[in-house]
Amino acid sequence: MRVLILGGTTEASALARLLADDSRFETTLSLAGRTSAPRAQPIATRVGGFGGIDGQVRYLRDHGVDAVIDATHPYAAQISAHAVAASAAAGVALASLVRPPWQCQEGDRWHEVVSTHDAALRLGDAPRRVFLSLGRQDLHVFATAPQHHYIARLIETPQQAELPADLVLLHQRGPFDLEAEGRLLVDERIEVIVSKNSGGEATYPKIAAARALALPVVMIARPDKPVGHIVTSAEEAVDWLAHVRSSSRRGV
Ligand code: NAP
Repeated sequence: MRVLILGGTTEASALARLLADDSRFETTLSLAGRTSAPRAQPIATRVGGFGGIDGQVRYLRDHGVDAVIDATHPYAAQISAHAVAASAAAGVALASLVRPPWQCQEGDRWHEVVSTHDAALRLGDAPRRVFLSLGRQDLHVFATAPQHHYIARLIETPQQAELPADLVLLHQRGPFDLEAEGRLLVDERIEVIVSKNSGGEATYPKIAAARALALPVVMIARPDKPVGHIVTSAEEAVDWLAHVRSSSRRGV
């Protein structure tokens, strides 16, 4: 059975590892191509957009894909909308690997906002030292609040012409541990963190470190993301694929 994983996440890589030696499936991992040196993967990989819904439908048909697992990031809403539409049009089964969001716990000082623009506004008028944990596509928004000192952690250098004037870039790839996150926040005298509610363990230590230091976190809410059949782990995705495979073999 031919499987396409829409990836770019820890879960997609975990699923790729599980399927690499599974002879029931011939699996390809699809990456958007945002990272110039992505981690090596144990399965066939294709890189770059499909060219919208029509392009994705063509890809599914041309490559005889039987099932798609959308394991993209919770904030990558467009590719998921395209996957739902394209899979329906091509008659291909679709499951979405949904990473549960982090829950606000006792001691957390979260301020939830609906967009990156609202996060920039929420930082207020007085200059503050801000840790941005967002990804490079959203950085330019903080140019609208130039009174703050920003430290942003990224894998790639941002390409936007307009960036906050007072910005320091840390080129680091996760996962990050609690101790190192706490040290970073203290050493850089961070007063507030801006984060997406990505969920998962890899980037959670900064949230736990903020709690330990009683620092506020401006938390940007998740976008609405269309889904297929929901699974919550790479193992559950394999079970679903096995079910789709046996149903199609029985002609159900
Ligand atoms: P997006 O806004 O939902 O997608 C924009 C376009 O990028 C899509 O329409 C599609 O182009 C292409 N694309 C996205 N993911 C793709 C994939 N896995 N394979 C092939 N094409 C893909 O996505 P985004 O927020 O820019 O995220 C891009 C990638 O980075 C995703 O793979 C996501 O999992 C990963 N990522 C995103 C975030 C985040 O905060 N957004 C964080 C960590 C990782 P076409 O329409 O041409 O097909």
